[in-house]
Amino acid sequence: MSDTIRVTVWNEYRDELRIPLSGEVYPDGMHAVIADGLSAHADIEVRTATLDEPEHGLTEEVLANTDVLTWWAHVANGEVSDEVSRRVCDRVVLGGMGLIVLHSAHFSKPFKQLMGTSCNLKWREAGEKERLWVIEPGHPIAQGLGEYVELPETEMYGERFDVPQPDATVFTSWFAGGEVFRSGCCWQRGRGKVFYFRPGHETYPIFYEPEIRQILTNAVRWAAPVAGAETRYGNVRPLEDI
Ligand code: ZN
Repeated sequence: MSDTIRVTVWNEYRDELRIPLSGEVYPDGMHAVIADGLSAHADIEVRTATLDEPEHGLTEEVLANTDVLTWWAHVANGEVSDEVSRRVCDRVVLGGMGLIVLHSAHFSKPFKQLMGTSCNLKWREAGEKERLWVIEPGHPIAQGLGEYVELPETEMYGERFDVPQPDATVFTSWFAGGEVFRSGCCWQRGRGKVFYFRPGHETYPIFYEPEIRQILTNAVRWAAPVAGAETRYGNVRPLEDI
């Protein structure tokens, strides 16, 4: 493991091609914009992968060389093969890869598999205001942020969000329509870390926002693997005379 964090930015890459407004906001796809924000930092090395590539761009080799995987998905979660989803989960739990799950990827196969719950939520697309409150200002993912981030136009996600109790909830959102949502949730799964981050709808330019880019950069650094001891199982000789 080197000091450089190797990130793979994965995108379903369908909405940008099928929804004209999404294509206008993200002409080269959301993955290009997310990757651009991350690659501005010298300690982060970025590659991208999309659903329609062979093995969804997530071969054993790509994953073995990925420290943190970010995942945006929406309409084609069912097209992700069970084998690739299992490969991603194994790499998190057994290999320590970080996984950052973005917005509508709450229904993605790897996230649901790692959570073990429905991951369902309420939603409304009305272009309303969101105030993303930092409720754990001492958490590494909140580094450099103020008390809150305002997003003038977003899709609403509302509680209850059916996920296991997070190990840490870094952000809680308030929406103009009255709902609230746990927008930044952290879990440890085996050796790996998982971060769910809510903002990032396909027709709003949210991934260009400097504060959102800061959060994703912080999340990548937080989720990077730890150089811990190798895990060994099975029958072992005693370390002391017994
Ligand atoms: Zn959305």
